Amino acid sequence: MILAAAVALDLTAAAFVALGVAIGYHWYRDRGRTQGMLALALVALAVVAALGRIPNPPVLLSAVIVVLFMASGFFVLLFRHEFIPLGRTAYRGAFVLLAVGIGLGVLDVTVFAHANPVVVTLLGLGLISIWAVFTGEPIVRFWLASNRLPAVQRARMRFLSFGFAILITILVVDVLGGSAVQSPTAVIITQLIALVAVPAIYLSLAPPPLLRRIWRMSEENALRAAMQDLLIFTTSREALAERATFWAVRLVGATAGFIADPNGKIIANTAIDRAHAARLISGRDRSASGSTTGIIMAPLHLTEGVGTLAIIGGPFTPVFGTEEISQLRAYANSVSAGLERARVAERMAAIESNKSQFLNLASHELRGPVTVIRGYLSMLEAGLLGELNDRGRMAAGVMAAKVSEMNELIEEMIESARLEEGGVTLRAVEADLREIARSAADIVTPMLESKHQLVMDLPERRVRVKVDPDRTKTIVANLLSNAIKYSPDGGVITCQVRSRAGMAKVAVSDQGIGIRRESIATLFTRFGRIITPETEHLKGTGLGLFLGRQLARLQDGDITVASVEGEGSTFTLQLPLAGAGPEAASNGGAETSAEGAPEHTVSASSS
Ligand code: ADP
Repeated sequence: MILAAAVALDLTAAAFVALGVAIGYHWYRDRGRTQGMLALALVALAVVAALGRIPNPPVLLSAVIVVLFMASGFFVLLFRHEFIPLGRTAYRGAFVLLAVGIGLGVLDVTVFAHANPVVVTLLGLGLISIWAVFTGEPIVRFWLASNRLPAVQRARMRFLSFGFAILITILVVDVLGGSAVQSPTAVIITQLIALVAVPAIYLSLAPPPLLRRIWRMSEENALRAAMQDLLIFTTSREALAERATFWAVRLVGATAGFIADPNGKIIANTAIDRAHAARLISGRDRSASGSTTGIIMAPLHLTEGVGTLAIIGGPFTPVFGTEEISQLRAYANSVSAGLERARVAERMAAIESNKSQFLNLASHELRGPVTVIRGYLSMLEAGLLGELNDRGRMAAGVMAAKVSEMNELIEEMIESARLEEGGVTLRAVEADLREIARSAADIVTPMLESKHQLVMDLPERRVRVKVDPDRTKTIVANLLSNAIKYSPDGGVITCQVRSRAGMAKVAVSDQGIGIRRESIATLFTRFGRIITPETEHLKGTGLGLFLGRQLARLQDGDITVASVEGEGSTFTLQLPLAGAGPEAASNGGAETSAEGAPEHTVSASSS
């Protein structure tokens, strides 16, 4: 048993020496000053552990052990001071305590080496208490501070606190327990517990990539969602850069970060001021990259050059490993793509806005001359400017038709500009949707060819809607004229009016060319036309459905479409029934026959 206890003591000493060597090596490789304090503490502890195994050490060696032991605790305090600075008084007080501790310790191993056990215990207790203050205060601080940190830093700080908490407990138990803990069994137990501190401290300072990944897992989902949101949906470049920096910091468990454009201008920053970031990027302040903290700079490949995504580690992120570097680089590539996408979106928005401005201006400017031309043409046609011969009359007729097409286009463009600027005022009056549908049919009747048949499927009762009648008529007329236009082989075109559940609807169905599913999204966009061999010869602006939907939505309605390519389409305009509160909504179905057979059919075939 005694042998087993001796082996346990040797084992613990060896583990602490290994820890000291490993951490010392890490520190030598990365040379972070903050971590350096902790490395010094652990190396000192390792030496204490090794020297402590020398049987019957000479007095001088015992004194050295005491000094190193106190120093190890003091280095832990300095480690804390690096990032949670101590007040001036506390800092000075710590030096005094260090001197007292060393004094007590040296007295203990020299003058009082063979004194009364109570004195030895008291001196030992004084020494351990000072060491416990040096290490205990920081670990409580670390633990509390860790609550606010990203997962990786939080786990690192907690492991460190846990490791030191074990050491303090063991030392205090060792001194206070006296002979009770000197039994071989007690020694084995305390040493085994002390052994747990070694991996805990080691993992806090140099966690392997796998462990870092496991720690990060808890945040992974939030991170993934945020990144997707960030890269796909953020449209402003500035907002994207800000959020990308924030998440880069979290991704690798850093404390601060920033993004610089290729000219070194800081475009986003998190937990670091712009001036400091600018100094780092221009290389004037190397302190952050070399000694105090770790810094990773990943290139951002942008059209205008190579920018930088930099993240800065703090005391809570003692070492960045290759894992973090490659992760940040991969992330930087996504951020570059996101920034590029946002840049293109911003450019497109600017172009779009210029285009709109131009179109608005052009359409307003064209309106005047076109009105004058129309006036003169009607005078010509009426013979008010002298009699025209047959060819002249024919030419005037063609010109009048073309000018009226042009006028229609101009009016549509002006209306769409108005919509964009929010300048559309709708005249909401109570109207019968059947009447609106009928007058829309009247407008398109001249377009019908013999191969088309227009069927009006209208209910018997009024379908009361509160809308702008003229604009609603235009919407329905456009749906009907589309149905005719995009049914080159003819067929039945149905205009069905119904009301149900608080909504009124006009559904215009045709047996025409139909629309491919993937093209549906284009239909309702400004100037959105689907050009196929069947439609390329047809005239159109791509504004009708855009305006229709916008106007419908302005009136709390919508336009939807159901279509099968090659078989036909149904465009449905929905509008709320007049006075359609919840009450009207529940009675709505009773107002007209819901989905039953048409009660009244008007055939408006031109044949
Ligand atoms: P326009 O008809 O002037 O091009 P619209 O905005 O009214 O503009 O329609 C947009 C596009 O939607 C049309 O170019 C056409 O490709 C498609 N479309 C509209 N109505 C139909 C329909 N009934 N059948 C098939 N395609 C249609």
